[in-house]
Amino acid sequence: MANPLFDTLFGKHAGNPAVFLHLADGQTITYDGFLAMAAQYAGLICDLGLTAGDRLAVQIAKSPQALAVYAACAQAGVVFLPLNTAYTADEVSYFVENSGAGLLLCDQSKAEGLAPVAQACGAQLETLNADGTGSFSDKATAMPVQFETVARSSDDLAAFLYTSGTTGRSKGAMLTQENLLSNARVLVDEWRFTSDDVLLHALPIFHTHGLFVASNITLLAGGQMIFLPAFKLDDIIAQLPKATTMMGVPTFYTRLLGDARFTKALVAHMRLFVSGSAPLLAETHVQFENRTGLRILERYGMTETNMNTSNPYDGERRAGTVGFALPGTEVKITDSKTGATLPQGEIGEIEVRGPNVFKGYWQMPEKTAEELREDGFFITGDLGQMDADGYISIVGRNKDLIISGGYNIYPKEIELLLDAAENVLESAVIGVPHPDFGETVVGILVAEGNVAPDLEAINASVSASLARFKHPQRLIVLPELPRNTMGKVQKKALREQFKDLFT
Ligand code: ATP
Ligand code: MG
Repeated sequence: MANPLFDTLFGKHAGNPAVFLHLADGQTITYDGFLAMAAQYAGLICDLGLTAGDRLAVQIAKSPQALAVYAACAQAGVVFLPLNTAYTADEVSYFVENSGAGLLLCDQSKAEGLAPVAQACGAQLETLNADGTGSFSDKATAMPVQFETVARSSDDLAAFLYTSGTTGRSKGAMLTQENLLSNARVLVDEWRFTSDDVLLHALPIFHTHGLFVASNITLLAGGQMIFLPAFKLDDIIAQLPKATTMMGVPTFYTRLLGDARFTKALVAHMRLFVSGSAPLLAETHVQFENRTGLRILERYGMTETNMNTSNPYDGERRAGTVGFALPGTEVKITDSKTGATLPQGEIGEIEVRGPNVFKGYWQMPEKTAEELREDGFFITGDLGQMDADGYISIVGRNKDLIISGGYNIYPKEIELLLDAAENVLESAVIGVPHPDFGETVVGILVAEGNVAPDLEAINASVSASLARFKHPQRLIVLPELPRNTMGKVQKKALREQFKDLFT
């Protein structure tokens, strides 16, 4: 019986003895071996009473077994719900309750804390540890290595993926089989993935980047992954010679560039480096090219939509932009108030429509109605503009827009100036409450090396290039910017920290 997601990504590899995963310790797992593990897990999931459409939540370390739980859910028609491993028991409680998950998998070390959570939510609890051991995998060994795939259609839900919570409480995005498959197909094509590819995978698999972009593409192409538990410079440097492609968040690239072992010779054989999940500084893009002769390909996406835009594989990869709309996906820049499409070059809301766009937020009909238009366009919450050649760039998030004395201020414009200032590594511009202006501009800086930036000089030079209402009223140096595991700057935390500066 048909199950498009399972059949297309996993089932077609049945009996394939080729390597799918290379692990850090040199072990390998074949496609066939991976499918046998997934079949046993699917059998157990059904044995535990879950049926098609039920939710399975996991808060487990990245491992081949963890990835096999995703495959097992696809095969059993169960909705896969991966959670950030950093979440506390209280946070997990919200997700398990909100999703109505029937089964929660966690690490043994968290089982005691999560047992009351699971009980209160009526979910069963099993363990699956980083090394693949645990009550779940123990029980699975008794299951047959064949499982009759549960029939599903393209429109059925495949996953609930919770957003990163950068701008507020995480929302559960309902993703269908077609949402995932359509995007995987487009990206394999656009980025020229084949069964010869070996993807260096150091991203987490509780997020769309590592789970869907990286893993689905590799599965669809029938390639291999070097599957590392986390990003560690020594491991990456050691594994790069064996890879053909790598996907990363911008901090991966800044950290690589900070290491003298990261040389042109080390990566001369690499076919593709992809960046996303947070803005890649134009400076990093340029430094990377100077060091390696290769250009990072930056793309833009989100939990709710998978990937929307990408720089071209063959054409010019333009620094500071996220490229063009992917085939099949429409992107338009609109007026926040009227929803009308803006003339080329103007800054507005980025809206997207296509087979990649989710079905709505789980049990949040009002939020869904606010962001997902009836005609299918999703209002991303990101602000952007399109240049004359059609390249899209992201100016920031709608919620980070500063409104001071009635004027709109886009933090990115000021950040670009601050980033370019002497002895400044990077910056974040935020709006904080101000008695006269409503909000005012504060610039947070991180020093480059050990030299303190000259704040007065920076203030003078930045102010000379900006209209008065955009002048930062305060510049503050911090040792680093607060970031989450996906490398996203947490402006919400900065606004909270500095909310009383002027009040
Ligand atoms: P929440 O929606 O809960 O506030 P979040 O938006 O950070 O969290 P994700 O879905 O993980 O959750 O992230 C998507 C966002 O990441 C996009 O809306 C965009 O702001 C940002 N993003 C992704 N890729 C890029 C990129 N290449 N350049 C700039 N920003 C990017
Ligand atoms: Mg978001």
